[in-house]
Amino acid sequence: MSVHSSTRTQVAIVGGGPAGLMLSHLLHIAGIESVVVDNRTVEQIETTHRAGILERDSVRLLVDSGASDRVLTDGHEHGGISLRFGGVSHRIDFQKLTGASVWLYPQTEVFVDLHRARTRDGGDLRYGILDTEVTGVLDSPVVTYTDAAGARHEIAADLVVGADGSRSVCRDLVENARQYYREYPFAWFGVMVQAPPSAPELIYTRAAQGFALISQRTDTLQRMYFQCDPNEDPAQWSDDRIWDQLHSRLAGSDGFRLQDGPVLERTVLPFRSFVQSPMRHGRLLLAGDAAHTVPPTGAKGLNLALADVRVLAEVIERAIDKGDGDALDSYTERALSRVWKAQHFSYWMTTMLHRVSGATDFDEQRQLGELQTLISSNAGSTYLAEGYTGWPHH
Ligand SMILES: Cc1cc2nc3c(=O)[nH]c(=O)nc-3n(C[C@H](O)[C@H](O)[C@H](O)COP(=O)(O)OP(=O)(O)OC[C@H]3O[C@@H](n4cnc5c(N)ncnc54)[C@H](O)[C@@H]3O)c2cc1C
Repeated sequence: MSVHSSTRTQVAIVGGGPAGLMLSHLLHIAGIESVVVDNRTVEQIETTHRAGILERDSVRLLVDSGASDRVLTDGHEHGGISLRFGGVSHRIDFQKLTGASVWLYPQTEVFVDLHRARTRDGGDLRYGILDTEVTGVLDSPVVTYTDAAGARHEIAADLVVGADGSRSVCRDLVENARQYYREYPFAWFGVMVQAPPSAPELIYTRAAQGFALISQRTDTLQRMYFQCDPNEDPAQWSDDRIWDQLHSRLAGSDGFRLQDGPVLERTVLPFRSFVQSPMRHGRLLLAGDAAHTVPPTGAKGLNLALADVRVLAEVIERAIDKGDGDALDSYTERALSRVWKAQHFSYWMTTMLHRVSGATDFDEQRQLGELQTLISSNAGSTYLAEGYTGWPHH
C-alpha cells in the first residue's frame, strides 16, 4: 500500500495512555516535538475504568507541569487506608506516619486532563489507528500505521518511545532483553456499582473467603474488587452472587456496613508481575506498562508509568538539546530502581492479603501474624505508608 503522508518529528510515541501523553506533555514543555499514535479511540480510553489512586508525587507532577488542577479540586485526598482482617478495620494513618497522602482520582480523569492539555498546546495526537509498525530502531526509527479510512502513514523520528501498554509490540524489538515474570493463582473480580460510599478511604480486606477491596469513585458510584479464580466468567455472576461474596468478606464485629446497589459493570482482571530489562535498545525506549506490570494491590501501575516518563523526558532533553550522548544510557537503571521497589511492594501487599488455595493452617496463622505485626509496629506501618504514598521522584 502506498504511503499517504510522511511526517518528521523528534520523538514518535507509540501509545497515548498516561505514559505516552505525559511524556509528550513534558517534552513539549522542554521545547521538543513529538507525535503520539494510539490504536484505541479517545472515547474508548475515556470510558475504560482502571487505576484510581495517585501517589503524592504523581499529583505534584500533574499540577506543577500544568496538566491538571482538577486533581486538587475534583480528586479526594486520602490520608490513610484501612486494613481489615478478623472482621475488624485498622486504619494506617499515612499523614501521621509520613506526612503524605494519596489522591483518589480515576485514571480516566488523568487521561482527560492530559489529552486536554496536549490538545490545548497543539499536540499531534493520532487516535483510532491500526497496524502500527516500528522499524529502524537502531539508527533511523520510523513508525508506520493505517488510519481509520485505510490510508497508510509514516512518521520518521530521532527517537521512538514504546508506551504501548502491557501488550506492547515495541518491547519485542529490544534484542537480548531479559524478562522477569511472576504469575499468581488468582485474579480480581472488579465491579462498578451504583451505591453511596461505604467508607471515606479504601478498605483492604483479608477474609477467610479471600481478599476484597472497597474503593470509591463518586457519591453514587463505587469501585470494588474481590479475589477470584483467573478463569472466572463474569457473565455467570448475578448481582446477588457478587454481593454475597462482598458482604461475607467484609462481615465483622465492628459495625461496618457495606452499602450495596445495582452492579453496572463486571470484569475479571488478571494478576501478573513482569519486568523487561533493558528499557532501551538503540533509539527505542520503553515506558510504563510496556516495560513492567505489577499486580494492582499496591496501586502502583499508573504511578510507575508517570515516574518513568518524568525520568525519560529529562534524559531525552539532555540527549537531544544538550547533545549528552550518555543520557539515554542512564534511563534503564534510574527507572528500574523504582520499578523493583514497587514490584516488591505490590508483591508484598498481594501475598499478605490474598488466600492461596492449598494454604495450610500454619500459612493462615502466619499471615494473620504478619498483619498483626504491621498494625502494631510503627516501623511496619510506616513502611506501608511510605510505599503506598510513593517514594519521592528524583
Ligand atoms: C483494573 C485495574 C486497576 C488498576 N488500578 C491501579 C491503581 O489503583 N493505581 C495504579 O497506579 N495503577 C493501577 N492500574 C494500572 C494502570 O492502569 C496501568 O499501569 C497504566 O494504565 C499504565 O499506563 P501506560 O500509559 O503505561 O499504559 P496504558 O494505559 O495501557 O496505555 C497504553 C496505550 O497504548 C495503546 N497501544 C497498545 N498497543 C498499541 C499499538 N500497537 N499501537 C498503538 N497504540 C497502542 C493502547 O491503546 C493504550 O491506550 C490498574 C490497572 C487495572 C487494569
